Amino acid sequence: MISPTELQAIPIFACLEETERQRFAARAADVRLQPGEWLIREGEVASFFVLLEGAVVVVKEILGRTQDVFEYNAGEFFGEVPILLGAPSFAGVRANDDGKARVARFDAQQLLEMVQSSAACSALILQTMTDRLMRVQRFAKEVPTSRVLLIGTRYDNDCREIRQFLSANRIPYEWIDADKDASRMPVCMNGEYDGPAVVVDNHYCVETPTVRSVAEALGIRTQPRFEDYDVVVVGAGPAGRAAGVYGASEGLKVLIVERSAAGGQAGTSSRIENYLGFPNGISGEDLSQRALQQAGRFGAEIAMTRCVEHIERLGDGRYCVELDGGQRVSACVVLIATGVEWRMLDAEGVGRFQGRGVLYGASRNEASNVVGKRVVIVGGGNSAGQAAVFFANYAAKVVVLVRGKGLELTMSSYLIDQIATKKNIYVVPYTEVVKAEGEDHLERVTVRTRPPEGEETMGTYDVDALFIMIGAKASTAWLPESLQRDSGGYLCTGRDLEGWGLQDRAPFPLETNLPGVFCAGDVRHDSIKRVSSGVGEGSMAIAFVHQYLALNNF
Ligand SMILES: Cc1cc2nc3c(=O)[nH]c(=O)nc-3n(C[C@H](O)[C@H](O)[C@H](O)COP(=O)(O)OP(=O)(O)OC[C@H]3O[C@@H](n4cnc5c(N)ncnc54)[C@H](O)[C@@H]3O)c2cc1C
Repeated sequence: MISPTELQAIPIFACLEETERQRFAARAADVRLQPGEWLIREGEVASFFVLLEGAVVVVKEILGRTQDVFEYNAGEFFGEVPILLGAPSFAGVRANDDGKARVARFDAQQLLEMVQSSAACSALILQTMTDRLMRVQRFAKEVPTSRVLLIGTRYDNDCREIRQFLSANRIPYEWIDADKDASRMPVCMNGEYDGPAVVVDNHYCVETPTVRSVAEALGIRTQPRFEDYDVVVVGAGPAGRAAGVYGASEGLKVLIVERSAAGGQAGTSSRIENYLGFPNGISGEDLSQRALQQAGRFGAEIAMTRCVEHIERLGDGRYCVELDGGQRVSACVVLIATGVEWRMLDAEGVGRFQGRGVLYGASRNEASNVVGKRVVIVGGGNSAGQAAVFFANYAAKVVVLVRGKGLELTMSSYLIDQIATKKNIYVVPYTEVVKAEGEDHLERVTVRTRPPEGEETMGTYDVDALFIMIGAKASTAWLPESLQRDSGGYLCTGRDLEGWGLQDRAPFPLETNLPGVFCAGDVRHDSIKRVSSGVGEGSMAIAFVHQYLALNNF
């Protein structure tokens, strides 16, 4: 407990009346930190802190790297800026690695009482706040805007994947379109474009880059640290990351393996508006990044840009999980959370232009490629609706082609309402693409319109980008043949299993017919294809994993 006498030695409290000091001392939390222990993390709800003993370090995420920015010493206070601006904490604070620290913590209301209780105290807090805001201004001028310079062309698929990976991991990058900005080519390329290249942190040049080589140059983990885990989670979409957060926070040794960028389908959503707790919606990238930080904070390990290619039950009941390149780890439990992939559009010429104007899905970083252009979206579901609303802010014209009568049967009403407010979105019913044409990239699509009553007609659209979002399929062919699937390849679990090998117990909910292999999210038979249900299943799976581990004495 903090005494009024201890507070009196601190300048901000020295100017208060004794009775007020007593009042604040009685209500302050007395926080004692071990060396290196966190007091608050960046992005948390802000509190007001007064440092009583020791020193703390202010830590900020800058361009995907965690950096120590400066130190506070005993007697100083902090946290007033975000509270008075109504913002979350701008930076994290932890005790110095060399010593313990002791901090008095006050909530926002108590800070306001301090500001109002004494003119001297208020002047001190507000002057300090002004100085700190000046420091933020200097910081904004000095901080580099990106760590990665990516040089390539709009139609290069490697570049597109790298850009998607960087965006999904919230790593700012500068993009030089070699077709348009040849004069901006970096010195290390001798002014000539000879295929995509990446410059990381101003000095590292990755020639013929891949997503993995860029990830490694940025210091992102791509290799498992250990050989054995309690749980290996395959896929870092909402279901996989939720399992990572719950598993690691409950003491399990968890490895999440993700073949591309964490976030899964949700990571490509321009705006998720129906996820609880985000009244104004949240972009898929933001949600993914937060979940990733959360999983990492609890100690879940994530190996990015790695694909699980094979799993096999070992003699002792554990599983061998084989990653691309033949690397193996073992696990008591495997959780399959591999989601779904876009269904391909079967129309003449579409395959030839994939990545050259034809894209499956619609990630936010395509926005800069469609400014002032003509966009066609195929599909009438929510993902097509989100993409139409998002691209309408950039493109000259967005045409949405739907096979059915309209959007009412397939799209949420909040998206239909948003589409109605955009003057440059045109919804064309009863229509499908039959042909894609162009020279070296997509230039035109031919469409067929078949209304239930009336003549079939053909038409063409000049188009710069065709985004296809016509449903999804489960890609589960790589899993053991003995794993039970439905006719669409989705994995059966729990009560949906036909035949179960063990006599002594029934399968757990979310357990497949291979004991110890669980499944969550979109890839599961009959799952509800939503972010919240993926998150729910991923976290529920961990509860059953605990029961499974206890039962098998792992
Ligand atoms: C554009 C779009 C917008 C959407 N908007 C909304 C919305 O607003 N609200 C809503 O509730 N839902 C929305 N959804 C649906 C929602 O995103 C999905 O239901 C949810 O992401 C499913 O989560 P998941 O974890 O099961 O699978 P996914 O999100 O598909 O994640 C699976 C992950 O597994 C990885 N993976 C696959 N195979 C392997 C392997 N062998 N090895 C390693 N990794 C592998 C994939 O790369 C992927 O990252 C949207 C979907 C899309 C595509």
